[in-house]
Amino acid sequence: MCQTPRVVSVFVRTSLPPHVAGQHVDVRLTAPDGYQAQRSYSIASAPGVVPIELAIERLDDGEVSPYFHEVARSGDTFEVRGPIGGHFIWAREDGGPILLVGGGSGVVPLMAMARHRAVAAAEIETLLVYSARTWDELIFRDELIEREACEPGLALAVTTTREPRRRPGDLDRRLDRSLLRKILARWERVPRHVYVCGSNAFVGSVTSDLVQEGIAPARIRAERYGGTL
Ligand SMILES: Cc1cc2nc3c(=O)[nH]c(=O)nc-3n(C[C@H](O)[C@H](O)[C@H](O)COP(=O)(O)OP(=O)(O)OC[C@H]3O[C@@H](n4cnc5c(N)ncnc54)[C@H](O)[C@@H]3O)c2cc1C
Repeated sequence: MCQTPRVVSVFVRTSLPPHVAGQHVDVRLTAPDGYQAQRSYSIASAPGVVPIELAIERLDDGEVSPYFHEVARSGDTFEVRGPIGGHFIWAREDGGPILLVGGGSGVVPLMAMARHRAVAAAEIETLLVYSARTWDELIFRDELIEREACEPGLALAVTTTREPRRRPGDLDRRLDRSLLRKILARWERVPRHVYVCGSNAFVGSVTSDLVQEGIAPARIRAERYGGTL
């Protein structure tokens, strides 16, 4: 299922143990000649939901991600290991308020947290700050907008870095320190837990900006996807 022009959702039926929001799986592909390649993909589904949803962004020069866009077909089988990850996780008993900050496909594990919150902990104040290049590249866009409208306590701050904002409250520049300050002031909450996910560069700059804005490093958990964007 196409989420954006560059991202597909892949629904995987597995016999893996249940996951916690924020965890990922390792996917291993094996070519007919025995060559293997393995990559990690976050789980977008809320815990307990099957089949699990992965959302995979196509990197044109990539080895594994193009497979899911060009080759994989419904009913295919491949190796999946997991769920993996004991740090970048959130469950109801962890409490809130929670601040989720995602860049590009880094929104995927945050989506699992937002979906989990909706069914298990709707009282927990949550802000999802989501940066993408364009409006059409916002993964889960329609679901997020609908959730914000229907779920009291869930706020969404969208920023597009390569085109003007589409909605009055949204933003349209890179997520830097002053923009984060503005977004946090508008939210009027102090986060107990912060989750930041995206490319190495995105996570590095956002976490350092948040610390400079007074958020204790111990409250911040980060997941780095690689790359430099
Ligand atoms: C814990 C974890 C969870 C992840 N979850 C997701 C997910 O939910 N969805 C998703 O799409 N990806 C996710 N990734 C990234 C994923 O594992 C792969 O790295 C990505 O799909 C690229 O693999 P590839 O084989 O297509 O490209 P590769 O052949 O590995 O790399 C091709 C080129 O792209 C560069 N590159 C690699 N990764 C990135 C990146 N993230 N951004 C920009 N450039 C990059 C490489 O340096 C190289 O130049 C996750 C990574 C980690 C560590």
